[in-house]
Amino acid sequence: MSETRVAIVTGAARGIGAAIARRLAADGNHVAVLDLREEDTASTVAAITDKGGKAIGIGADVSVGPHVQAAVARTAQELGAPTVLVNNAGILRDNMLFKMADEDWDAVVAVHLRGAFLMSREVQRHQVEARWGRVVNLSSTSALGNRGQANYAAAKAGLQGFTKTLAIELGPFGITANAIAPGFIATDMLRASAARLGISFEEYLGAAAQQIPVRRVGQPDDIAAAASYLCSDEASFVSGQVLYVAGGPQA
Ligand code: NAD
Repeated sequence: MSETRVAIVTGAARGIGAAIARRLAADGNHVAVLDLREEDTASTVAAITDKGGKAIGIGADVSVGPHVQAAVARTAQELGAPTVLVNNAGILRDNMLFKMADEDWDAVVAVHLRGAFLMSREVQRHQVEARWGRVVNLSSTSALGNRGQANYAAAKAGLQGFTKTLAIELGPFGITANAIAPGFIATDMLRASAARLGISFEEYLGAAAQQIPVRRVGQPDDIAAAASYLCSDEASFVSGQVLYVAGGPQA
């Protein structure tokens, strides 16, 4: 990347978000590593600073307005105006529709959809001022429908419409917005799914790989590479798109 820019990556204490934060730092960005608890961001921050990069850890819940405002303000103060935003924070509350509690629906929609909305609204002020910006939202192949994930599928499909609308509204200011829809990526999120199914994580990964055309599950760095491209100057004509990164056309 030609210029040093300031990026915020939400849910970056671990998993896909941590890989994206490390990759954006390697690309030359200064990175705010945001997650629920500041102390949990330490390993991602250290991975960046150990390689000579610049990063700060921020504790915030993306679904809470005042947290979001404080997080963006702190980023601007300590690193500079943020112009790259990766809305990655996410949770699962899987259940079949007939067993899904109101709280399971509300929690998932709050983190994925309201979180992305609050973060994007707060960061766009800096992007518009800079007349340059990148927004990358983490959708999922589950947006196409997935048993036991009515809440998550709705939120991830909603994020795709949100992304396209941001692309339309913010495009005139040099800001692009795109979504990445990962397939099966080996992270703690799915470790918990394996536990719920009562099988080992290794068994779960092996079974998943057999269903994927390239015959392997994805790794967080597969998603980080896609995010790196979408945040680059080279991707300035790519906006409002959903990039499926899933080892094939189906999850
Ligand atoms: P993960 O559970 O390993 O990490 C998610 C991170 O988000 C955690 O560090 C968590 O603390 C943080 N987080 C949760 N709620 C938050 C909140 N309210 N505010 C701030 N941070 C919060 O998950 P992952 O597998 O790395 O997934 C990252 C993103 O990619 C999620 O949006 C997920 O839905 C999406 N995704 C993952 C997969 C996969 O196979 N792992 C597939 C498709 C999409």
